[in-house]
Amino acid sequence: MKSVDATCVICGSNTITTYGKFSQYKGDAYYCSSCDAFYPSQLPELADVISYYQGFNFNEPQGTFIRKWINNTLFTNKAKQISSVLKKHTAGNKLLDFGGGCGNFTKGFAHVGYDSWLYEIDQSAVRIAAENGVKILTEKKGLFDIVFTSHVIEHFILLKDFFEDVSALLNTGGVLVIALPNKNIEEWYRKVHVKGYLDVLPERSMKDLKENPWFCIDPPRHNYALSSTTMRMLATKYGYEILEDFTEYCNQGSFYHNSQYSLLNFGTFVKKPWRFVYNLYITAMSVITSKKYPQGGENLCVILRKK
Ligand SMILES: [Zn+2]
Repeated sequence: MKSVDATCVICGSNTITTYGKFSQYKGDAYYCSSCDAFYPSQLPELADVISYYQGFNFNEPQGTFIRKWINNTLFTNKAKQISSVLKKHTAGNKLLDFGGGCGNFTKGFAHVGYDSWLYEIDQSAVRIAAENGVKILTEKKGLFDIVFTSHVIEHFILLKDFFEDVSALLNTGGVLVIALPNKNIEEWYRKVHVKGYLDVLPERSMKDLKENPWFCIDPPRHNYALSSTTMRMLATKYGYEILEDFTEYCNQGSFYHNSQYSLLNFGTFVKKPWRFVYNLYITAMSVITSKKYPQGGENLCVILRKK
């Protein structure tokens, strides 16, 4: 790690080191020790990002009627669990799922009683969501009691723009939910997944990755690897009170889409028994590891109140 003469795009301090060049992206991976975050020395252009996401159709509900029904049930259950957290902080009912892809969460929130709306830049995802009965916010206008964002912030080019967008849509006293990949993950038993991120920076070793994880940075998709430290700093900077801050392990998450390790996936059990055994192993390991490192889950959740 070499220190570089640069100012952090997130916190403005000059405590930047470089971890070397990305294997499949221009420029270096910068790390700021003040805000504990990685980002690329050259941020992507807006045009690159917009074209990258058209037709992305994030989490498109697919397959047979039964598969779609399972998907709906899954997201309704997730929304129910999220709602039990939200109810502690707000009685508000008007909710915006900001950047919610094909609207799985939006629909889940509607099922549990929220006046739930989707805002999304991928127009083909918006069409799919509308066909599924999701209410669409076509312009960034209006005020909501809750703005829910799941795995959106790390896709932004500038974090300032994320906070300006969501703040403009949130009532004063309203609740902002930010779920994002946790930079400081402890889920090292997911070998294939972890190895993919090791290769993002080709000259670095597994030891480097474990000491200071750049887990989840792969521009122009994920432009940032952010931690609880970064999020707390950002919350204060953009006028929010921190209500809660916790992590979820890969098989236990409600605040994000992941369900690939679920033991309830009966299709997997029938068609790919080895995969079911792997899911059993992941489930056992995540339960054990979450006891030891409660803040080490792959999904970081930050619940904030707009001042
Ligand atoms: Zn910084």
